[in-house]
Amino acid sequence: MADDEAARLRAMFDQAPGFIAILRGPDLIYEVVNRAYYELVGQGNLIGRPVREALPELEAQGYIALAQQVYASGKPFVGHEMPVKFKMAPDAPMVDRYLDLVFQPLCAPDGSVSGVFLQGQDVTEQKRMRDALRQSEERWKFAIEGARDGVWDWDVRTNGVVYSRRYKEILGYSDTEMPDRYEEWVNRIHPEDRSRAVGALQDTAEGSAPYHSEYRLRCKDGVYKWVLSRGIVVTRDEHGHPTRLTGTMTDISDRKETEETIWRHASLDALTGLPNRRLFRDRLEQELRKAHRQQQEVALLFIDLDHFKEANDLLGHDAGDQLLAQVATRLLQCVRDSDTVARLGGDEFTVILTDLRGHPHVERAAQKIIASLAEPFQLHGEVAHVTASIGITLYPGDATEPEALIRNADQAMYAAKHAGRNRFRFFTKSMQKEAQLRVRLARDLRQALAAGQLEVHFQPVIELPSRRITKAEALLRWRHPKQGFVGPSQFIPIAEESGLIHAVGDWVFAEAAMWSERWAEKLGRSFEISVNRSPVQFLGQSNANWAHVLKEKRLPRHSIAVEITEGVLLNASTQVAEALFQYRDAGIHVALDDFGTGYSSLAYLKHFHIDYLKIDQSFVHDIDHNDGSRAIAESMIAMAHRLDMQVIAEGIERPEQEAILRAAGCDFGQGFLFSRAVPPQRFEQLLCG
Ligand code: C2E
Ligand code: MG
Ligand code: MG
Repeated sequence: MADDEAARLRAMFDQAPGFIAILRGPDLIYEVVNRAYYELVGQGNLIGRPVREALPELEAQGYIALAQQVYASGKPFVGHEMPVKFKMAPDAPMVDRYLDLVFQPLCAPDGSVSGVFLQGQDVTEQKRMRDALRQSEERWKFAIEGARDGVWDWDVRTNGVVYSRRYKEILGYSDTEMPDRYEEWVNRIHPEDRSRAVGALQDTAEGSAPYHSEYRLRCKDGVYKWVLSRGIVVTRDEHGHPTRLTGTMTDISDRKETEETIWRHASLDALTGLPNRRLFRDRLEQELRKAHRQQQEVALLFIDLDHFKEANDLLGHDAGDQLLAQVATRLLQCVRDSDTVARLGGDEFTVILTDLRGHPHVERAAQKIIASLAEPFQLHGEVAHVTASIGITLYPGDATEPEALIRNADQAMYAAKHAGRNRFRFFTKSMQKEAQLRVRLARDLRQALAAGQLEVHFQPVIELPSRRITKAEALLRWRHPKQGFVGPSQFIPIAEESGLIHAVGDWVFAEAAMWSERWAEKLGRSFEISVNRSPVQFLGQSNANWAHVLKEKRLPRHSIAVEITEGVLLNASTQVAEALFQYRDAGIHVALDDFGTGYSSLAYLKHFHIDYLKIDQSFVHDIDHNDGSRAIAESMIAMAHRLDMQVIAEGIERPEQEAILRAAGCDFGQGFLFSRAVPPQRFEQLLCG
């Protein structure tokens, strides 16, 4: 062999990935050794030495005999992960190695064996790693099988999934029951959660973020269970495609249940099951965003029940609750599934109408709601009547922000109440100013009584046949230091809302009683003054019991009459009947004010002790032009008389009206034709002068 050829061969040997040695003759003398071999055995001086002498530690390990056997038999030996110990230096301790090795017999040209070619690889590191991995896998397997969580292992290429025993157990299966397939998982996911759960897994497969998804899985019994699944990609192929994903599955149904209960408590109204104020706000924002994207209109309706407070206090709170629940049901029946009905609290409801098809659509919905709620409610044997006032505002025409829309709808609702309830109103800009004024008035009204800004005026009530002043109605006046005169129609509702009506009403009553006493003295007979009493004053804590007060003051009977409206009688309970009975007992007449504007029939009224019927101004107004109004007024008078009630006509402004009413047998009249309400001193002149 030429020198340079031998050198090339040497270099090749040295660069070969494994170790190589050639042993010659039956004594196995080192002839060629590459660098890897030197490094493996830790000896620098081998060439020309027999193995037994160069590496005596191999003798006891059986490797010398093995090589001799290959030499003798001419058959190769292949070994995997063969354990070998080398003494790396004369005094050093032995070092453990694992080798994949081949002993190949070398043949002379005549076919006889002349040596052994030794070649192999040091696989110590690989073996250690594999051992470690196996150990850790065993530990891991042990850990997961004992754990609360299930484990899954997905081989992407075969679509096989190993589900752990615990995984199957969570779903109610035994270890042998659930096939190890990917589809088993997919088909078990709740249809509503499926695309989300599978999509998230795909995201993990394509990206690097770990898998984390909560979804429902169908159990053996068909019931769905909330689980949390987590996972990672464990291996990828050379193109980066995932080949194996592994993860865990945790039963989170308990947590979900708690979460759901908490959510329900926080978002739904317990009484009606409707979304509460909070959820309503969320939904509103959501719908507005959607409408913005799709360039659509949204209508927001505020619904407030009329006279609910009365019904609630008079019929009892259980009945009130039932009533609200029934209102909720009716509201839901009036709108489409895609619309939102919510309860803000008390007797306040809202409706969000989406996907509008023009204003008539909104108007129809509002009308439907009003008609539906005006139907009587059956509450365990009792019948209740409520009506609804509705305020409507439109997005984006009136406003674009949720707060502004809510304010608008509230103001429009107030306008509907003010216009006489049981109706709806669309928001207008002028309502905003009125609302601001209302807020100011409510603030100022608190001081008005103490500041002496309130006055009671008296309007004469005329006995029609004689045209003499026989009674008076006490009407409240407020001289506001800045606004000037503010009418009762404007501030009585505010007083009712704030509860001030109790103090104010009792004060009016005391004033009326005082003047009645004085004028009775002057006239030498009792003089009846009627005092308006709002429905709210029949509820809760009206401070003074008027019947008692009169008895204490020893005022003559029929000094005071009380004017009530139909709203009080509509949901009348024993409480109202009791009050009316007390009045009768104390010689207080009861007048039914504004008759004809509400719902009650005369027949209904005969259940109560009503002394006077006051025909509302709206009938008197056109009685001399409109045959219909005239006929109604005439029959009211006739029927009232048959029920032993006397009739007072309100709002007489023209002699023609007076003539018609007198001819129809009306007992009393009241109106600008005779006199407006005037201060007490002026009234005294009219009465005695
Ligand atoms: P009401 O009890 O029906 O009182 C009659 C109203 O009609 C009074 O209005 C009176 O000034 C007005 N009026 C009388 N004659 C005529 C007429 O010929 N033509 C016209 N156009 N109107 C006439 P006012 O004083 O503005 O009171 C409005 C309402 O405020 C009253 O209606 C009553 O419901 C309420 N109110 C007034 N004072 C009190 C009070 O002290 N307590 C309560 N709770 N309500 C009161
Ligand atoms: Mg009145
Ligand atoms: Mg009236």
